[in-house]
Amino acid sequence: MARIPFIAGNWKLNLSVAEGVALVQGLKDKVPAGVEVAVCPTFVALYPVAQAAKGSSVGVGAQDCYWKETGAFTGEVSPTFIADAGAQYVVLGHSERRQFFNETDQTVNQKLKAVLAKGLVPIVCIGETLTEREGGQLEAVLKRQVVGALDGIPAAQLETLVIAYEPVWAIGTGKVATTQQAQDAHAFVRAQLRAVVGELADRVRIQYGGSVKPDNAKELLGQPDVDGALVGGASLKLADFAAIVAAAKA
Ligand code: PEP
Repeated sequence: MARIPFIAGNWKLNLSVAEGVALVQGLKDKVPAGVEVAVCPTFVALYPVAQAAKGSSVGVGAQDCYWKETGAFTGEVSPTFIADAGAQYVVLGHSERRQFFNETDQTVNQKLKAVLAKGLVPIVCIGETLTEREGGQLEAVLKRQVVGALDGIPAAQLETLVIAYEPVWAIGTGKVATTQQAQDAHAFVRAQLRAVVGELADRVRIQYGGSVKPDNAKELLGQPDVDGALVGGASLKLADFAAIVAAAKA
């Protein structure tokens, strides 16, 4: 099953408006046909970065959202406002949000429903800690996260779903999963997806995330169940991110 490779840059709490706009200006003519690309700036940079990306094949995503549309929810940003700013994607359940901001499978599920209702493309992050992997919990954790995120959502509504498998021990550490570890986890996640959403599982893109760099991207992206990458640190430098995007071209 041919799935269009998808490379997304998660800028986290980095890059000013001017820096983000400049990076996108430089990226615009470096996206090869047949590769989907998005950058995910801070909320305050969404609109200017989306404006800078307009008319190009660089997409724009938020790094999180709230599940309520509008109302008295100080400090929150909903899919409605994310779409209004010109973004098309939303990252959900990143391990940093699970670790530092009490994100749970249940809140990811609520956010996922809101993102889908707005017609935005969700990138749902899952992944195990080192303790969980070493304790033999890898498969149980991934299964719980997949089932929890998708709970109560009919397969027909999940056509655009993207999953990012990000082993927590590989994020920002320089410790990348081996290609075999990545492929095994992705194949397991796809099998779990199949149990929940049936044949749609073959169309869901599963990105790998965790210390993806220009020098390891090609090998990781060459694995049969690795359909792209969610890139943190290396997405902050145009040359590095563009090299990863180029590596996704078959
Ligand atoms: C991430 O934040 O999703 C990530 C994968 O970070 P890094 O590439 O820096 O490990």
